[in-house]
Amino acid sequence: MATELSKKNILDFTPPELEDIVAELGEKKFRAAQIFGWLAKGIECFDDMKNVPAGLRSRLSEVYYIGLPEVVRKQESRDGTVKCLFEFEDGAQVESVFMKYEYGNSICISSQVGCRMGCTFCASTMDGLDRSLTGGEMLGQVLAMRNLTGEDIGHVVVMGMGEPFDNYEGLSRFIRLIHDRKGYDLGLRNITVSTCGLVQKIREFAVDFPQVNLAVSLHAPNQELRRRTMPIAGKYNYDELMKACREYTGLTGRRITFEYAVIDGVNDNPECARELASKLKGWLTHVNLIPLNEVKGREYKTAKGKNVAEFKRILESNGVAVTVRRTLGSDIDAACGQLRRNK
Ligand code: SAH
Repeated sequence: MATELSKKNILDFTPPELEDIVAELGEKKFRAAQIFGWLAKGIECFDDMKNVPAGLRSRLSEVYYIGLPEVVRKQESRDGTVKCLFEFEDGAQVESVFMKYEYGNSICISSQVGCRMGCTFCASTMDGLDRSLTGGEMLGQVLAMRNLTGEDIGHVVVMGMGEPFDNYEGLSRFIRLIHDRKGYDLGLRNITVSTCGLVQKIREFAVDFPQVNLAVSLHAPNQELRRRTMPIAGKYNYDELMKACREYTGLTGRRITFEYAVIDGVNDNPECARELASKLKGWLTHVNLIPLNEVKGREYKTAKGKNVAEFKRILESNGVAVTVRRTLGSDIDAACGQLRRNK
């Protein structure tokens, strides 16, 4: 694979950019759409591009490679969940998870190798950030997972390793690539991006991608508690974050999902639920309670079922829409970032 390092990942390029590339090679621009279409099918070598002239295929392969990640480890759950440790050309490894839901198949992809946000309950951030992924590497996870499972994937959540808004460039390129009609053609509403709360980027995102779903990791009902588990709260305080979220719903007319990992003895008591309800009341939101995945090397424990149920009841009785995340793949290394660390 080392030989590929001097080459560029062709999955990174949009159709207009591919037009320039083929034009430089002395070919007609319409070849770009053909190439882009083949790439979205998940082909692994240029010679699979059947309607592209052999000469062009070979010239492309001298400068570019098709950057589908390799499967390093794979775990399959009885419920159909498939978790993969993928490796890119430079040896960087990330996790992706394929999940089956009633509404269809979904993939959770990573946006960075590691993470520098430092949330104290999360496994992905324990070794810091290695690097961000490119848009093509994010797309590569979807294509490689589809090849591996042989299943259609109609929903993408950017909720794996990394902070997508700390890699806004890679993220926005990924969304453009996977949404493009000539390629994978995924609807914007079938994409969800989860952030720990980078306020400036929430504003940018509302303008750039108003149709893409936004989830915000809240995990606490107030600044003091949030700051204990999420260092980002030191940069953007609770009120600033809430303000940006309100602007987001105002501008896009779309509901925000707030993620709330319920941690035993930390943020799972009824007062927390009441305080959270008072902040969200009368607002177009949805709370997703996530029973904490216990991470080796972190002291936090998952909240007791009865406390989660009571938390949910309090939110509901205040008119706040809430669900408890279904635990998929509980018989495999569930928490994000764990597979990479357990190697
Ligand atoms: N950086 C982004 C997306 C990655 S994490 C973000 O913070 O939103 C996806 C979700 O899983 C986030 O809500 C994150 O806080 C949560 N999470 C991380 N570690 C967890 C754990 N051990 N148990 C439950 N949820 C966790």
